[in-house]
Amino acid sequence: MSGVVIVGGSVAGIRTARALREHGYTGSVRVLEAETEVPYDKPPLSKGSVDNDARVPLISPAEGDQLGIELLLDSRVTGLDVEAQRVSLESGEALEYEHLVIATGLTPRKGAYDVAGVHVLRTLADARGLRAALADAERVLVLGAGFIGAEVAALARRHGVAVTLVDPAPVPMARVVGADLGERLSALHRRHGVDTRFGVGVTTLEQYEDGHRARLDDGQVVEADVVVVGIGSEVNVAWLAGSGLGIDDGVVCDGLGAVAGAPGIHAVGDVARWDGVRVEHWTSAVEQAVCVARSIAQPATSTDQDPSGNIPAGHVPVAYVWSDQYDWKIQLVGVRDVSTAPEVVEQAEPFRLAATWRDRAGRVTGGVTVNWPRESVRLRTAAARGGAA
Ligand SMILES: Cc1cc2nc3c(=O)[nH]c(=O)nc-3n(C[C@H](O)[C@H](O)[C@H](O)COP(=O)(O)OP(=O)(O)OC[C@H]3O[C@@H](n4cnc5c(N)ncnc54)[C@H](O)[C@@H]3O)c2cc1C
Repeated sequence: MSGVVIVGGSVAGIRTARALREHGYTGSVRVLEAETEVPYDKPPLSKGSVDNDARVPLISPAEGDQLGIELLLDSRVTGLDVEAQRVSLESGEALEYEHLVIATGLTPRKGAYDVAGVHVLRTLADARGLRAALADAERVLVLGAGFIGAEVAALARRHGVAVTLVDPAPVPMARVVGADLGERLSALHRRHGVDTRFGVGVTTLEQYEDGHRARLDDGQVVEADVVVVGIGSEVNVAWLAGSGLGIDDGVVCDGLGAVAGAPGIHAVGDVARWDGVRVEHWTSAVEQAVCVARSIAQPATSTDQDPSGNIPAGHVPVAYVWSDQYDWKIQLVGVRDVSTAPEVVEQAEPFRLAATWRDRAGRVTGGVTVNWPRESVRLRTAAARGGAA
């Protein structure tokens, strides 16, 4: 029994492996990844252009060799024996570990729209399939106006494809950005020629000879060559069935990513629920990876500050996420207090906007900015310092 085994070779898993080495861990580090692709980053998959493959590697095999990180691709893990400290693979092999890091992320949900030919977007293969379909398409129907749906709509419009964007919510990304900015986002999509159908759901979706036909609950029918569904995801935990680990919308962890009642096991990234909160964003995955690597490599000092001075070893207090839609770079930091109205400052030329979120006591809890990175940093710093701004 030796070393660290990391299950899942995307950003959370690879950043954990890299951070283990950065923090002086000298034991073996093995990353087990189900896909056959060399690890790549996901945010570019919904951005850029239809013609571009959007592949951004997280590590190359040569770098892996240099750092002593063993990348085991095409290695799907199917089971975990906590007592024996062993994972079993689809291939029939088994690997023992001293430390296990669970980084298996998410799989998109299709829900009631699980109809042949419908696209989702999570993997490089999904992105390649979608880009190929968009290249030949005239009309695309996007179901769900969250981050992925809104970015896919923008990507398709850049390629000149007619887009209908449907969501039962009254505005896109309302839950995260709030109603005011959601309205502005609606207008942004409409300005770029998107046919927005918000506040309506889809009652039926069927495939016909040349495409798909959706019936909306206001009675309208939308036909499209390509349908993309972006309605959320499920955590990849099937392989943990029977392991005895606590699963409750993610792997249940403490505030340092340690799995309750399972010494030597941590979880990071989208699959992990730290201190009751599960976050599906890139920066959180990276920060959790550093935190867990430190706990493993330098257990005695894991409550101190990261040597870089940037990342606290415990739970990361201020969330950060970005989204690129047309010429808007949207950055969100912290959490929105829904009981208070945001303070919005905007400038027309060049357009930029900042909405500051405060709690009832007037403390800054975060905010959203558009094309204003410096203000985003200021809001993040203020929220991290307890809201003085
Ligand atoms: C298209 C797209 C755009 C995004 N854009 C943004 C953005 O702009 N900003 C932002 O903050 N976030 C964005 N995100 C979210 C961000 O990419 C995720 O938060 C991040 O990928 C989470 O990383 P992860 O390693 O936890 O999980 P994942 O990226 O889901 O990786 C999990 C890995 O585990 C592997 N795996 C699963 N099960 C097994 C198994 N049993 N055995 C072995 N391997 C397994 C999978 O193959 C996968 O490689 C985007 C996501 C997508 C899909």
